[in-house]
Amino acid sequence: MIYQSTFSESEKIEFMSEAMKEAENAAALGEVPIGCVIVRDKTIISRGYNLREATQDATTHAEITAIRSANNQLKSFRLEECALFVTVEPCIMCAGGILLSRIPEVYFGASNNKGGACGSVIDVMNIKEVNHAPYIEGGVLAERSSDLMKAFFKNRRGANKRNYSSEEK
Ligand SMILES: [Zn+2]
Repeated sequence: MIYQSTFSESEKIEFMSEAMKEAENAAALGEVPIGCVIVRDKTIISRGYNLREATQDATTHAEITAIRSANNQLKSFRLEECALFVTVEPCIMCAGGILLSRIPEVYFGASNNKGGACGSVIDVMNIKEVNHAPYIEGGVLAERSSDLMKAFFKNRRGANKRNYSSEEK
């Protein structure tokens, strides 16, 4: 199945702005500032932000937290009527979670050339043997996201070599 975007440009910005608020929540806790929202019928049903330091759990990325919450609310592992908005390109784990929950639409902000799994380092979202390939769109509020990431890593001495690009893929 070929999926297409069902959001207008202004809706994409509206929902990515909400994901940015979640990223700012993470930043306030000293966590790598990545935020996510999941939308169904143009309404946010779940939110998440990176909590890896607080939990010391490698899987508590923004997307996984939001997917778990959406699964719980809908009492289904299938999120076939949902769209996911995340401020930074998903990693391999989160791309896997998106595929396994059958989310058909994914929007991200900044690209991540240190592990992005939607084309930057590897493209997990478009493997022909895998029976699901969501619509993917990067670059939504990318500059805001990459500025937040850069500011975070600049403040963390010795960890500022990562490069979160606002360039479109
Ligand atoms: Zn991830």
